[in-house]
Amino acid sequence: MGQLNQAITEVEENLGKLLNEVKSLKQYVEYLEEENIKLKRQLCAVSEADTARVQQNASKIQKEAHENLEKLYSQGFHVCHIYFGEPMEGSCIFCNAFLRKD
Ligand SMILES: [Zn+2]
Repeated sequence: MGQLNQAITEVEENLGKLLNEVKSLKQYVEYLEEENIKLKRQLCAVSEADTARVQQNASKIQKEAHENLEKLYSQGFHVCHIYFGEPMEGSCIFCNAFLRKD
C-alpha cells in the first residue's frame, strides 16, 4: 500500500501543478483578449481617419492627372492608351473618348 500511496501523492502533486498552469493560462488568455479588443478599436479609429484622407488624396491626384493629360493633349500629344505621348496630327478618336471630348 505504501507504493500506491506514494503514487497517488505524486498524481495529486502533478494535478496541482497542472491546475496552476491552467490558472495562469486563463489569466494570459484574458489578457490577450483584452489586448485584442484594444487593438481592434485602435485599428478602427486609424482606418476611418486614413480612409477619409486617402479618398481626398485620390481625388486630388485624379484631378491633377486629368489636368496634366488635358495639357499634354492641348500641346498636340496623344494621351490615349494606344498612341500615348506621340505627336498628334488632327484629332484622335481614342484621345477624345479618353478625355470624354466627344
Ligand atoms: Zn490618341
